Amino acid sequence: MQTKKISIFLILLLAVSILGGCAGNKTSGVTATEKKSFTIVTSFYPMYVSTLNVARDIASVQVINMTKPQTGCLHDYQLTPQDLVTLESADAFVVNGAGMEAFLNDVISRQKNLKIIEASRGITLLRDPSGEYNPHVWVSITDAIAQVRNIAGQLSAVNAENAKKYESNANIYIAKLEALKTKMHASMAHIKTRDIITFHEAFPYFAQEFNLHIAAVIERDPGTAPTMKELAAIIDMVNKSKVKVLFAEPQYSPSSARTIAAETGAKIYSLDPAVQAVTDGNAYNEYINVMETNLISLKEALG
Ligand SMILES: [Zn+2]
Repeated sequence: MQTKKISIFLILLLAVSILGGCAGNKTSGVTATEKKSFTIVTSFYPMYVSTLNVARDIASVQVINMTKPQTGCLHDYQLTPQDLVTLESADAFVVNGAGMEAFLNDVISRQKNLKIIEASRGITLLRDPSGEYNPHVWVSITDAIAQVRNIAGQLSAVNAENAKKYESNANIYIAKLEALKTKMHASMAHIKTRDIITFHEAFPYFAQEFNLHIAAVIERDPGTAPTMKELAAIIDMVNKSKVKVLFAEPQYSPSSARTIAAETGAKIYSLDPAVQAVTDGNAYNEYINVMETNLISLKEALG
């Protein structure tokens, strides 16, 4: 009985593979290029969300994020052996650029044929007080839209067979981002305070977009707590000025912010640079959802 079951199974398997083989030969003769899958690797979460939207519902295209959804910014990030394996599978590598991926030259020298898609290309970059370019381009919605256009345009150039789909997907996503931008500008047109203190140097593009003034940045280098002297200077500045709003980021420990708040009476609010996954599952709307939450926080903080 058991043997009979197995042999029926084997016959079925053989039949399926023969039929499958025939069907495969038929299509490969006509559309050989369409059958080939195209793998896009993204450097970190914001690039993943934008690229996922651009490559939405294209059967032959897969999008893989090189880093974990919780990695956050790639300041000082070192490539892992697993990253190198992931990159080996890539036809295109979507990066933020503007100095965020310090390891990029290393990748280019290892994989000379890899197509690099640079999301920040052509976008006017802001400089930090240190003189270096600030890479947090996507935190401005206007620049996030420009990045989506860049990603779609450059992907279309290297994977022409899907160009139409990339462009139409980009247009659909950009329409959502434009609606978000309009809503945020309308909501923030009449806020009372425009001076804010932020946690790390993630918000200059956002502040520029919404006409906010960043009076101080608590940690210039993420993960590096301010020295006692720097902390004292910020406390002094907050006490002397009208700035009573601190924006901590969910990604970092708020201990310095708490100290400043305790010493000055300033209040701590949350502002998220949309650099990590917040929810499980649906990554498509993650950027928009985070900005909607930021808007609630900003309205509460700035009146
Ligand atoms: Zn950062």
